[in-house]
Amino acid sequence: MSKAPTVRLNDGRAMPALGFGVWQIPDPEAETSTALALEAGYRSIDTAQIYGNEAGVGRAIAASGVARADVFLTTKVWNTSQGRAATRRALDESLQKLGTDYLDLYLIHWPSPKRGLYVETWKALLELKAEGRIRSAGVSNFGPAELARIADETGVEPSVNQIELHPRFQQRETRAYHEAHGVVTEAWSPLGQGQLLRDPVVTAIAEKHGRSAAQVLLRWHLRHGFVVIPKSATPSRIRENFDVLGFDIDADDERALDALDSADGRIGPNPYTATF
Ligand code: NAD
Repeated sequence: MSKAPTVRLNDGRAMPALGFGVWQIPDPEAETSTALALEAGYRSIDTAQIYGNEAGVGRAIAASGVARADVFLTTKVWNTSQGRAATRRALDESLQKLGTDYLDLYLIHWPSPKRGLYVETWKALLELKAEGRIRSAGVSNFGPAELARIADETGVEPSVNQIELHPRFQQRETRAYHEAHGVVTEAWSPLGQGQLLRDPVVTAIAEKHGRSAAQVLLRWHLRHGFVVIPKSATPSRIRENFDVLGFDIDADDERALDALDSADGRIGPNPYTATF
């Protein structure tokens, strides 16, 4: 079975570049889908406190026969659990649901600037890392200003920033910060929540290679060095999205996809104006 390539994090650890995301998969189905993903070869699972499916993910890992040490497990602290004490409690609860005593990666889900707690929450993650309860610490939906603030106040850059990223919304400014500071870019909604699969530029490249539109998009992410976590609850698509390791798009394809970037291409919430 193929293994996903890995990227090196700034704390020396390795993270699979291709993982499985479980947003919007209810708990019982998350168990089934995660089990299928592990069977297909994925060794990285991305969940979150707010997804309500950590228990299903945990059951699937426990029953899979794959050693815990061979799975890279990520979850995220939700906005209402920001702050030192609440974050520590949230981690306890997530670990209990996931049926494990450590995480590979813990992320602050959103900066939620109106709460004014993301620096304190970042310090809590660093404490948890020092205690060995999380192996790597990262953030999600942070922009350059928030990234600079946590680094200035603690001297520690996150290992990962997980952001909305796909050819229609390429976040070049945030990526430039990542490159300058050794932060790995992880792409959420890498397929644009399915919306990019009908884009004529994407479908033409797919036809040229005899591959699916989803596979072309995933190759685009991997070529750029992003960590990517596509989601599907459909067994054939779960397998299809992992079956991208034996082919590549070419430089012309990459340029054509790069040219799809659009200032208003965002699909999810804007972290700076979000009210949650
Ligand atoms: P995605 O871009 O992975 O798209 C998923 C959708 O695309 C599926 O629901 C399905 O409709 C379609 N799809 C998937 N594979 C397909 C295939 N092979 N053929 C045809 N259609 C296919 O969207 P996503 O779920 O939003 O993002 C992936 C993961 O990123 C999530 O599950 C979650 O883990 C993470 N995420 C994180 C945040 C955050 O704030 N940190 C936000 C959104 C998502």
